[in-house]
Amino acid sequence: MANSENLQSSVSSIAPVTSPFLNYLNELHQKYQSLNDGKIADYIPELALAKPEWFGICVATVDGQLFEVGNCDQLFTVQSISKAFVFGLALEDHGREYVNCKVSVEPTGEAFNSIVLDEITNRPYNPMVNAGAIATADLIKGKNSTERLKRLLEMFKGYTGRDHDINVPVFLSEKGTGFRNKAMAYLMLNFGMVSEKIDETLDLYFQQCSIMVNARDLAMLSATLANGGINPITKQRAIAEEYVRDVISVMLTCGMYDASGEWAYRVGLPAKSGVGGGITAVALRKLGVGTFSPLLDKKGNSTRGVKVCEDLSRDFGLHLFNVVKPTHNLEEWILR
Ligand code: GLU
Repeated sequence: MANSENLQSSVSSIAPVTSPFLNYLNELHQKYQSLNDGKIADYIPELALAKPEWFGICVATVDGQLFEVGNCDQLFTVQSISKAFVFGLALEDHGREYVNCKVSVEPTGEAFNSIVLDEITNRPYNPMVNAGAIATADLIKGKNSTERLKRLLEMFKGYTGRDHDINVPVFLSEKGTGFRNKAMAYLMLNFGMVSEKIDETLDLYFQQCSIMVNARDLAMLSATLANGGINPITKQRAIAEEYVRDVISVMLTCGMYDASGEWAYRVGLPAKSGVGGGITAVALRKLGVGTFSPLLDKKGNSTRGVKVCEDLSRDFGLHLFNVVKPTHNLEEWILR
């Protein structure tokens, strides 16, 4: 299994010192560093410690190149971004049909933490809202809580190529204040949608939200999906090929909170964001984008991160349904 040193050494041998694409990213970084709109999440005190100026952009290509500018080593908690990848692990553990009995894949215009279940099936709407993410975490196999968490962390390592730690103060705060999540979990237990080990599952959910990542990890998460489930640097498979499609389609329709429609329209890339300030976005068969800036807009998405993704999508024609010739040619710049 690859470790952080392996990833680091492969990266430093591959990443170009300078290139037109890196210059472009530097310009983007400069352009949006001065954008100070938005607010740092403060529903728990640990998140409020983030600095508003933190800003990192990383792009990882499917052929293993990494381009990064700004604070790409700064660690922060992955939060809701974990939901997409845990959904992938649940699919591997149980298959598409069973997972879909427990969690629907329907977008909702409701807030991510709404206490709403499908009236007919009692399923939560999708794996990206909290109720759906808790039901998804409930599906993660393992003989006890330690083994379930270990499997989840191994899964993350498969994508990023390095070991991850849990931010324990964030975990304890999430657990200590997450009454709404607990209420949803117990409502689902009432309907028989989650198992009796729901307290253990809630811990697992709070732990998955508290995994520490940086912008480079976010780029590797999405680059691995863009590369059909194989980490482009370590060459390790992180998710079975057959479920890559499931994960990225739910990211496209539900990944950006209740701005997912607007995002699909403007950016047109499957993506997931989290209240820690991260965004991971997939340009299938091309690259993954990871951005980090903790200032969040009203919908909970990173203000600078959204801008960066909009520009990248427009300038390189990355929108899934783009038909016009982009101003910059990705193939000429970085993908040969
Ligand atoms: N840990 C958060 C919660 O369950 C998720 C925050 C997010 O949306 O990133 O409330």
